[in-house]
Amino acid sequence: MLSKRLLPLVPAGLVVQQILPSPKLLTIVVAPRECLAACPACGKPSWRVRSRYDRILNDLPWQGQPVRLRVQARRFRCLELGCPRLTFAGRLPDTAPPAARRTGRLDNLQRNLGLSTGGEVVSRLAARLAMPVSADTLLRMARRTGSIPKARPPMRVLAVDEWAWRRGHRYGTVLVYLERNRVVDLLPDRSADKLGCVAEGQPRRGGGRPRPDRRLCRWCPARCTRCRRGHRPLAPAAQSRRRRACRSRPPSCGGAPGCPGDDAAV
Ligand SMILES: [Zn+2]
Repeated sequence: MLSKRLLPLVPAGLVVQQILPSPKLLTIVVAPRECLAACPACGKPSWRVRSRYDRILNDLPWQGQPVRLRVQARRFRCLELGCPRLTFAGRLPDTAPPAARRTGRLDNLQRNLGLSTGGEVVSRLAARLAMPVSADTLLRMARRTGSIPKARPPMRVLAVDEWAWRRGHRYGTVLVYLERNRVVDLLPDRSADKLGCVAEGQPRRGGGRPRPDRRLCRWCPARCTRCRRGHRPLAPAAQSRRRRACRSRPPSCGGAPGCPGDDAAV
């Protein structure tokens, strides 16, 4: 068993109880130094221990070996009669935040490495430095610090096309964010109303609201442009439906300038 004097850098609020070395991991059993703990709800200190449990915290490596702290954590009873918290877990303010799985100093080191280099690279480097961490965890650390914005910038170029539930019978609408080459949404049908709702909420190219003559006409699905674009021709029944729709179209809509047809870029 290693001597406790070999580990003078254990966090100040902990007392070393036992050291369990193994070829690939060094486990240090520690206990909180303080006998009292303050209730997080009412702030009254308590010394009545309700139960004990082991809390695992990853710590900075030691001599090329990963270090794991097994903290003998305690759960206290609150001594304030009117407090809504009957019991509460003892905190480790100088070691790790509540519910954390690594010490604060290891978290700080890994987060700064991830911000300086990148998730995948630091993940491989950290494994060699005996403080393994996944790339996804590094990304969560960076987001927690606010360095990576959660909200994406608004879409500027939105492409609209159709897709088939069943070819020749039922079609839907697909919206593609061209700058990222990513499908944004799939609408269940080719309804101009639903597409108009999506288009109205998007800014036009270069920022700002779309110009009135570039907005989608709600009669656009009645105009067949698939033959002109090289798609297969419509079935006779579909052609007759299109002709009836064109005859019932109000004259104010016919030939509206800027009407983009079935495919449009807003
Ligand atoms: Zn309390």
